[in-house]
Amino acid sequence: MTYEYMHPADQLLAVMQRIYDRKMTTTSGGNLSIRDAEGNIWITPASIDKGTLTRRDIVCVKPSGEIVGIHKPSSELPFHASVYRQRPDLNAVLHAHPPGLVAFSIVRTMPRLDLVPAVGKIVGKTVLSAYAVPGSEKLGEIISSYFNKGYNVVFLENHGVCIGDRSIFDAFQKFETIEYAARLEIEARRLGAVRPIPEETLKTTRNEGGRLPSFRPEKRSAEELAARRDMIPFIHRAYDQGLIISSFGSFSCRLPDGSVLITPSGADRRLLKPEDLVLVRDGAAEEGKTPSESLPFHRAVYAKKPDVSAVILAKPKNLMAFAVTDTVFDARTIPESYLLLRDIRKLPLETLYRDPEGAAAALSNPVPALIFENDSIAVTGETILKAFDRLEVADATAHSILLSRPLGDIVHIHPEEVDEIKRVFNLTD
Ligand SMILES: [Zn+2]
Repeated sequence: MTYEYMHPADQLLAVMQRIYDRKMTTTSGGNLSIRDAEGNIWITPASIDKGTLTRRDIVCVKPSGEIVGIHKPSSELPFHASVYRQRPDLNAVLHAHPPGLVAFSIVRTMPRLDLVPAVGKIVGKTVLSAYAVPGSEKLGEIISSYFNKGYNVVFLENHGVCIGDRSIFDAFQKFETIEYAARLEIEARRLGAVRPIPEETLKTTRNEGGRLPSFRPEKRSAEELAARRDMIPFIHRAYDQGLIISSFGSFSCRLPDGSVLITPSGADRRLLKPEDLVLVRDGAAEEGKTPSESLPFHRAVYAKKPDVSAVILAKPKNLMAFAVTDTVFDARTIPESYLLLRDIRKLPLETLYRDPEGAAAALSNPVPALIFENDSIAVTGETILKAFDRLEVADATAHSILLSRPLGDIVHIHPEEVDEIKRVFNLTD
């Protein structure tokens, strides 16, 4: 169900549940609100356990000021209300203190949003506001003055973030993306200097391609329906394991007739259903749907690699620490990592956007995965399970390397030992 059909209280519950489950707030911290079509503000209650919130706990504040509900509204109601007064275009406000962002907030700085193109596109303009005590009029005035100037994301010194958006799900996407950027930068800076994307390079990532022609599928094959059914649990699992977030990560499968089933552009990955996946056949997309912007790369891989039937492009934060720094990612850590990832290479970001065929060509056998600088990792497989396994192994390997930093220098598996692995596991190249 899309949020337009959900009651405001249910929307708040759904988003708060995700924030809490993903450890981006504590039981007492953070508050969310929605302004409905009548001007009522639906807001999370003060001092109620976020882990067991129900629909009845949500408070409704009428335009007259009358409060309807069994609890008091959040103590931050004044700043939510003042944001709505300043900005008739915003219908949702989200405030929380996720740990990655708080790390920046307590050193009074903001995470970089220019390490990965998708982050800047989703989050937009941000500002760091001066400290003021929570719930105070002063804090409300500071926050609403920035919203009045057109900012939709305000970082708060020694506190957290306040986000306004058209819907609470859009606000959540920004929020999750900001926390991703914060965690990514922290991981990357353990490895060395981070490499922001120059403005010139960023331009090459803007999608200038027109829409694909569309077609109406007549009958759906059993293979297509099976692929729809089988892809969704992997997309949800990737989300639940933190390998993708709501706003990025594309998955595709090639069907036996050569058509491709791919994730749609923009949609919240955790809410995807089998019917949301987009069928692409003979250069045309199923009518009424927009395939992921990375479709040209997925198609180029299928054209070059007849043995591949599944492709995933994702930005898991441990692996991405290597993509946004000059640190080499070497999978010769444990045999299992090497077996699945082999001699993984990094390619410049522009290749993905401007030369997908060239990028796909770099996946020559036996290379099953590639890192695109500042953008993503591409993993392939004969099945969606095998591609997913590679994604998991890539991020877990990166995680181990990051964890090993305080322990000493990594001893990679030696070339002779690599030869032995190839012999034992019957690798032909
Ligand atoms: Zn707060």
